[in-house]
Amino acid sequence: MPENPRTDEGFARELDAADPLRGFRAEFCLPLAGDLRRAAAAARSVSPLAVADDEPAIYLTGNSLGLQPRSTRDAVVQELDDWARLGVEGHFHAKHPWYPAHEELRGPLSRLVGAKETEVVAMNSLTVNLHLLMVSFYRPRADRFRILMEDSAFPSDSYAIRSQADFHARASNGAFNVRDAVVRLVARDERSGVYTTDEVLDAIDRHADSAALLLMGGVNYRTGQVFDMARITAHARARGVTVGWDLAHAAGNVPLALHEWGVDFAAWCSYKYLNSGPGSVAGAFVHERHLSNAALPRFAGWWGNDPSTRFVMGPEFVPVARADAWSTSNPPILSLAAVRASLGVFDRATVGALREKSKKLTGYLDHLLRAERGATGIEVLTPREPEARGCQLSIRVPGHGRELLAQLLSMGVVCDFREPDVVRAAPVPLYNTFLDAWRFAAILRELAAPRR
Ligand SMILES: *Cc1c(COP(=O)(O)O)cnc(C)c1O
Repeated sequence: MPENPRTDEGFARELDAADPLRGFRAEFCLPLAGDLRRAAAAARSVSPLAVADDEPAIYLTGNSLGLQPRSTRDAVVQELDDWARLGVEGHFHAKHPWYPAHEELRGPLSRLVGAKETEVVAMNSLTVNLHLLMVSFYRPRADRFRILMEDSAFPSDSYAIRSQADFHARASNGAFNVRDAVVRLVARDERSGVYTTDEVLDAIDRHADSAALLLMGGVNYRTGQVFDMARITAHARARGVTVGWDLAHAAGNVPLALHEWGVDFAAWCSYKYLNSGPGSVAGAFVHERHLSNAALPRFAGWWGNDPSTRFVMGPEFVPVARADAWSTSNPPILSLAAVRASLGVFDRATVGALREKSKKLTGYLDHLLRAERGATGIEVLTPREPEARGCQLSIRVPGHGRELLAQLLSMGVVCDFREPDVVRAAPVPLYNTFLDAWRFAAILRELAAPRR
C-alpha cells in the first residue's frame, strides 16, 4: 500500500484484482442488501451510492457476527444425517465421530492462537469459560486480592469479574471487600478511550503488591485497540500477577502467540471473526505450566476427566493433563461441526496472509475516512499504528446517533453502533473487498456531510 493511496474507485478495484486472498469471498454466504432491508422493513435509499437489492450488502460487522462459510451447511447436515442413520453409534462411527470431536479442533485452534495442542480446547461459551478459568486462576488472599481490568471492558466481562470477586469476598470473612477488589483502568485519553502500553504497565506497578489477576480484552471491543499482550503479560507475571486475556475480538483477527507470551489463560468466542455461527462453541487456552497441576481448584465435570478412566465412572475426578480438564460437559456436536468447517477456511488462508491483507484493507479504509475529516468531522478513534489495531475501526460521526445505522442499512451497509456516537466498521480480510471499503467511505461521507 503506497503512503498516500489514490482515493478513486478504480484504485479500489485494482487492489482487489491484486489481492491473493480474493477467492475466499466466494466461500461465504453474503447477505443481499434487499433481504436485509426487507427484514428490517427499511426502504432503499434513493442515493445513487446505495447498494442495489440484488447485490451483496457491504457487510462490516464480522466483529460482531461473522458470515457463514458455504462449507458449514454440509458439515452440520452431515451430523444430522449421521444422528438419523446411526443414533448412539454416531459417537464412534459418524463421519467425524462425536466422542473425540473436540480433538479434531486442537490443531486448528492451536495455530490460531499460537499454542500447543495440549493447551487449547473448544468448550462452552465465552463468559462461562471466563468463569471456569477464574475459578482456577483467581486465587485471592487477604493481601493479594485485586483484579485489574480495563474500564471500557465488554459488560459481560465486568459482570463476570465482579461476581467472582464478590463470591470470594463473601467467603473471605471480611478480609477484603468487593468494592476494593475490582480495579478498572481508565484510559488517560478519555476522548478516544485508547490506552498507551506505558499507562497499563504503570497501573500494574501501582497495584503490584495487591493484584492477584489481570484480565483484559486483547482487542478492545469499543475502540478496536490491540493491546501489547506480550509486554503486558511479561510485566504483570514478573510481579507475581496471574494474566488472562479475553480474546473475543482478537481470535481470527490478529496473530497471537499465547504460549510464547507466557499467558496463564485465555478465552474467546467463535461467532465473531471466527465465523462459526451465533452462540457457537467457544475456546479456551491454559498454559502448559498449569496443565499437570491437579491441585488447582476447578469446577469439574466428566468431560474434563482423563479419558482413559472416564468410563470407569468412579466418583473421583482425575483431571486430564490438557486444557480439556476445564471442559465440563460433552460438547454440542452441531455447533462443533460449524466451528470445524470455519477453522478449515482459516487453515487454508493462514493467519499470516490474512493479517497482511487486513493491515492493507483497514489501512486503506482509515486513509479514506481520515481524508473526510475536514469536510464532515468524521473521526477515527482506533489507533493508527497497524500493530495497535486489527480489522475494526471505531468511527465517531459528530451530530449523528443511532439513527445513522438505519440510514446506513437503507444504503445497503451493515455496521454496528456503540453509545453514544461510535459506529464500528470491520472490513474482514476473508470476505470483504477494497471496493467495500471504498463504497462505505463514500456512503458515510454522504450521510455525515453537514446538511445545507
Ligand atoms: C462478544 C463478547 C462477549 C460475549 O460473551 P458470550 O459469553 O459469548 O455471550 C464477552 N466478552 C467480550 C469481550 C466480547 O467481545
